[in-house]
Amino acid sequence: MFTLPRTGRRRFLQAAGASVAYAGLAPRAALAFAEQKKAQAPGYFRFMLGSFEITMLSDGLNQTPFRFSASNVPEEELKAYLGALRQPTEARVSHLNVCLINTGEKLVLVDCGSGDNFRETTGKLTESLEAAGYAPEDVDHIIITHGHPDHIWGIIDDFAEEPRFANADYSMSIGEWDYWTQKDLESRMPEGFRFFATGAHRNLLPIAERTKRIKPGAEIMPGLQTVPSPGHTTDHMSVLATSRGESLLIVGDAITHPFISLEHPDWEPQMDMDKAEAVKTRKRLIDMAATDKLLVAAYHIPFPGVGHIVPNGSAHRWVPITWQWEL
Ligand SMILES: [Zn+2]
Repeated sequence: MFTLPRTGRRRFLQAAGASVAYAGLAPRAALAFAEQKKAQAPGYFRFMLGSFEITMLSDGLNQTPFRFSASNVPEEELKAYLGALRQPTEARVSHLNVCLINTGEKLVLVDCGSGDNFRETTGKLTESLEAAGYAPEDVDHIIITHGHPDHIWGIIDDFAEEPRFANADYSMSIGEWDYWTQKDLESRMPEGFRFFATGAHRNLLPIAERTKRIKPGAEIMPGLQTVPSPGHTTDHMSVLATSRGESLLIVGDAITHPFISLEHPDWEPQMDMDKAEAVKTRKRLIDMAATDKLLVAAYHIPFPGVGHIVPNGSAHRWVPITWQWEL
């Protein structure tokens, strides 16, 4: 077929436009409006880690009061810090990035998203998974980092009233399972957060028989090892995925903010249950990622939430992964 070279094509189009105008029709550029699409690209980002295929899936975004980012810092100081970074100072908008690992043998999710009842702007995991070419029933195993709504409320499909990932088994730390399934949990939760307990019971109790309660640090399967990271919640755990010498540290909510967590690891997010323990864990994981030059996946850092943690003066900074066109 005859193909015009680029410069020739432009000249040809100019000539075609001229002839349309000559015929009395409006050329394209003169139309009164251009329809705006108001839709974003599908919510997934894919890359290879050795022989593992990693797909980051978006479950949407969540908004919390901006004070939640650092509850032990004076409001004015926090506002000035975020303002200087051109970050919102009214609300904290965080993304929800679920990591899907295809080991070549098993399809493994780390966390389950927020499901249908958490926020209007969340619960997009199934849509992103399907856009990425997989169905919920393809998932073999789910590792749960902790029991907060944005990580476990996607376990149950609230319309079908049964597990969304029909063929999956689960791993959750013993301490985390025991905490979120205890009978009188609701009365132990602080005012305003009691619904966390109701949701945890609704999502966890139906999968009791399919959930292996593990000690953080245990290996889930070859190449997938859990890492203890308590503090954000009682027995929160992270996951280290390794294939052919390449590693990805999936930190869950041990590191939540692209600037604060790394530049000020002592600033305490409101949602950290044991704040002193969470600071210790955050510093340990930051040190581990920076020293071993690990790739890191963080659930709440801007999508796709994958990058490196690099030393920067007396602290660290987040360097996001660049888009990859070919795998
Ligand atoms: Zn979270």
